[in-house]
Amino acid sequence: MERVWYDIGDVKITRIDELLLTIDPKALFRSWDRASVAHCLPAMTPHLITEGTEQLLSSVHVWLAKTPHGAVLIDAGIGNGKQRPTFPPFHMLQTKFLEHLAAAGVEPADVRHVLITHVHTDHVGWNTILVGDTWQPTFPNAKYYIPKAGCDFFSSPEGSARPNADMFRDSVVPVLNSGQAQLVPSDGQDVLGMFQYHPTVGHSIDHMSILLRSKGSTGFFAGDVMHHPIQFHKPEWSSVYCASHQEAEASRRWAMDYCLENNATFFSSHFTSSSVCRLKRLDDAVSFEFV
Ligand SMILES: [Zn+2]
Repeated sequence: MERVWYDIGDVKITRIDELLLTIDPKALFRSWDRASVAHCLPAMTPHLITEGTEQLLSSVHVWLAKTPHGAVLIDAGIGNGKQRPTFPPFHMLQTKFLEHLAAAGVEPADVRHVLITHVHTDHVGWNTILVGDTWQPTFPNAKYYIPKAGCDFFSSPEGSARPNADMFRDSVVPVLNSGQAQLVPSDGQDVLGMFQYHPTVGHSIDHMSILLRSKGSTGFFAGDVMHHPIQFHKPEWSSVYCASHQEAEASRRWAMDYCLENNATFFSSHFTSSSVCRLKRLDDAVSFEFV
């Protein structure tokens, strides 16, 4: 597939693919009600929803931003060789993610900043690779920005007992130990004068979205504010992976309003197709188009 680059001012952005998944709608959204979205389904088939079987299509990928300050990654995917027995689709992957990154002109040593939206398995994985028998930072010259609330939680007795705490031990702790981590406070943080973390909690206690402003253009890296574009029609639907459905819905509505009011381009963590949308308000509803 031909590589697509998006311009946000001085910054060039492209998607680095890792994995595609199909998910049963009822397994992702507890509130799934086919009748209430039946009118939206034809336009979503087959790029966002499979034909006939009507499974939701989902992507795991990372955004690469080439900035005047060097290469920046937004989120870090699942990673290779990670033990994830509780979620088989992520278990012991061997993908060509680093080759895809190289094809976009970036070697691990070129990455200067890694911006993590939240400490979850499919967002921190490529923070580290296995060298011998130890996990080490994949990007030796990068500063890694990681939400502090996620690190605090998974360092606590409650967090370290969670079934997904392995990802903290193999993909975050080595970065903390290397001295390359910069913990992002819950109220947000500026990075390089062009990226800005903004709290969008609900999916997780530490969840943040990342704004990018350059030369009058705005990009919005949503993280897991949404898992599928059907949520533009149903912002009240939260995924089964969301910690607080009420807060997740509020963050989703805030994110849509922000993009509408600021003419921001929406970069998703999990949409298929281009995973990049422009939003418009139509009467009471929000319409979106992939760009
Ligand atoms: Zn995710």
